[in-house]
Amino acid sequence: MQLYTFGKYLKNKFNTTVYKVPISIPGFTCPNIDGRVARGGCVFCENESFSPNLAKKERVSLNFESDNPIIDKQINSLRKQFFDTVPFLQHRFDAHKYIVYFQSFTNTYAPFKTLQTLYEEALKLPNVVGISIGTRTDSISDETLQYLSHLKNRTELWIEYGIQTSNDATLQLINRGHDFANVAHTITKTKQLGINVCGHVIYGLPNETKDDYKKTFTDSIALGIDSIKFHPLYVTKNTLLAKKYETGEFVPITQEEYAEILTWSIKHLPKHISIQRITAGVENLLAPSWCKNKSKQISYLHKYLNAHLH
Ligand code: SF4
Repeated sequence: MQLYTFGKYLKNKFNTTVYKVPISIPGFTCPNIDGRVARGGCVFCENESFSPNLAKKERVSLNFESDNPIIDKQINSLRKQFFDTVPFLQHRFDAHKYIVYFQSFTNTYAPFKTLQTLYEEALKLPNVVGISIGTRTDSISDETLQYLSHLKNRTELWIEYGIQTSNDATLQLINRGHDFANVAHTITKTKQLGINVCGHVIYGLPNETKDDYKKTFTDSIALGIDSIKFHPLYVTKNTLLAKKYETGEFVPITQEEYAEILTWSIKHLPKHISIQRITAGVENLLAPSWCKNKSKQISYLHKYLNAHLH
């Protein structure tokens, strides 16, 4: 089984192992949490699950137009997280070059000057060849997109948009705060500017069937994304979804169902689109139980893909 992974894409391009360094900027938040779009966030959101070192205080809002009083703290935190992580990556994965991955919350949801400063600071770090910015499609300004369209000419630049599903009823049910038209509009605009886009999709969302998963996949590919992340829907503690799971209202996707739709997706993935993730590890997991052991989960999926991808 030969998957065109993002690692391979980077190795072809840089002729060495390039590894993403996940960063959580203190003060950043999400419009789906702070009330600009909604409160409470997506039903599955407990952002600390994905980024344990998350700082929860001192939010920076979009309306913050004057000097950012915590920018020095944010830059210091960015550097500290980078230098704390890199020795491990060198030792464990033989990484030589890095992409700074702005991972937690919504990393284009802050005043432009703040964003520009942080992206530029990331690019000054040693052996950094690019940045990858995780965000929502309803939270990126034209000013930021224009700036990124120039930045892409001097570095390896990626924007990672959460697509999750193309079914508007599901997006409403999970309290996503935007519809698929918004996803389509923003990704199309980003691609028109020549910026690399990675799309996240989730299989196993409430009330969805195999047909929904397939539609989400084909709708996402049709937007011209360059890379994709797949994962099953996780139920973590202290989320709205946890309540629905505990009362039996939500039933997680099974390992077999997930393996089957993942295989179908990879079979239908255009050759030039790299795969960044086929599943993920998560802290505070309640369900699916088969996701509790990440290495077993990955080994099962690899065996399944090996047996079914022809
Ligand atoms: S967009 Fe991301 S950070 Fe915001 S509520 Fe949803 S999962 Fe949480």
